[in-house]
Amino acid sequence: MKEIKVRSHRTPIYRDSAFFLEDPSATRNAFEEELDHPRSPENYIYSRYRNPTVVSVEEQLMEIEGCQWALLTQSGMAAIDVALSIFQRNGETGSWLFFSEIYGGTNSYIDRILKYRRGIDIKRFYPSNDRYDLEALEKIFIEEKPQLVFFEAISNPMLIVADGDRIIEMARKHNVITIIDNTFATPYLWKPLKKGADIVIHSATKYLSGHNNITAGVVCGNNGEYLKEAIEYRKWIGHMLSPDDAYRLGTQLKTFELRFERHCRNAERLAKALASHPKIEKVFFPSLSTHPTYAEALSLFKGRGNGAMITFDIYGKTPDEKGENAVKFIRAVSTDIPILPSLGDTQTIILHVESVWGQKYPLPGMIRLSTGIEDYEKLENTILTSLEAI
Ligand code: PLP
Repeated sequence: MKEIKVRSHRTPIYRDSAFFLEDPSATRNAFEEELDHPRSPENYIYSRYRNPTVVSVEEQLMEIEGCQWALLTQSGMAAIDVALSIFQRNGETGSWLFFSEIYGGTNSYIDRILKYRRGIDIKRFYPSNDRYDLEALEKIFIEEKPQLVFFEAISNPMLIVADGDRIIEMARKHNVITIIDNTFATPYLWKPLKKGADIVIHSATKYLSGHNNITAGVVCGNNGEYLKEAIEYRKWIGHMLSPDDAYRLGTQLKTFELRFERHCRNAERLAKALASHPKIEKVFFPSLSTHPTYAEALSLFKGRGNGAMITFDIYGKTPDEKGENAVKFIRAVSTDIPILPSLGDTQTIILHVESVWGQKYPLPGMIRLSTGIEDYEKLENTILTSLEAI
C-alpha cells in the first residue's frame, strides 16, 4: 500500500488489534520490553496490552488528575476490579474494609465476586447519624488492621461527604492502602492522589465523558509498582477500553472542567431554590447547613463546588402520600427531565430513590437529581412548574 503523507494534530484511532513488527529481532525486542509493563511502550504489540490511542487519552487524564499514571478500562466496574485485584495474593490477602455508602453495583461486586467467589475477608464501615465517625474508623485501623480501605468522597444517594484528607492521613499512619472512587466529586473538586492516596478510580461513564454516550473507567496512581501490576492485570483479564471509545472520551474530556464547573453552579442554585419550596420537605445537598456533612464538604472542597447531585424528599403527611406526590411530580417533569439510571450527563436526569434502592432506602418521596448544564432559569422553571402537579 502506498504510504499516506498526512499528519493529524492528535493521536488518531488505531483500530488494529495487533501491530506490525518488522522482523524477528524487532519482535523479540517488543516482547522483552513488554515483560516490564511500560505505561507507554516503545513498541506496541497488541491492543489488549496497550494501544496508542488509549495511551494518548490516558495522558490527558494524568494531566486532569495530576498523577503519574492513568489506565483506561471498559467501565467503572472494570476499574474497580483492577484497583482491588492488584492487592489480592494467594493466601496472603488481608481483610478489605469498605465504607457501606458506596455505589450499589460495587456493593454487589463485593458480595457476589469478592466474598462469594474469591473468599476475601470483607469488613464494612457504616456511618452513624449520616456522618462517618473517624475516631471509630481509626479504632478499626488499629484493632483490625485491614489491608486496604475503599470509600467514595460523596456517597449515593444521600451525598454523605467523607473527610477524605483525614482518612488518607490516618490510613497512611496505620499502613492501610487507600482506594478511592472519586466519580461524584471528580478531580475538579478533589485530587486524593495529591494527598497521598494509593489509587483513585472513576466511572468515566459519568462526568469525565459527560454525555451519556460512553461506558468507561479509569484507574489512577503514582506508585510505579502498582502501575505494573495494574497493566498486567488489565491485560490478562481483558479490561482494556476500545480505541474508538478512548478517542471519543479524549474529545469529551476537553470540556470536562468547563462542564463540571457549570454542573456544580447549577446544582448550588437549584438546591437552595428547592430547600425553600413548600412542596419539598428536605433537600440533601452538601453545601446546605442542614446537611449532616456540611462541615466535611467545606473542609474537603473548600467552596470550589459541592458536586451536582441533589436528593430531595417530596412533601406528604404520610409515606403513602409522599409516594403519590413523588409520582405526580415525576410524571409532570419527565417530559423534559428524563428518568435515567445514570448521572453526569449535560442534561439533568431524575431518579426515584425507592424504585432503585428500596431495600436500603425505603423512602417513597425521595428523588435524586443529577443536575445538568442547561440554562439555569429554564431548568428551575421546569422543576418549579412540575411541582405544581402536586
Ligand atoms: N462508581 C460509582 C460511584 C458509580 O456511580 C458507578 C455507576 O453508576 C460506578 C462506579 C460503575 O461505573 P460503570 O457503570 O461505568 O461501570
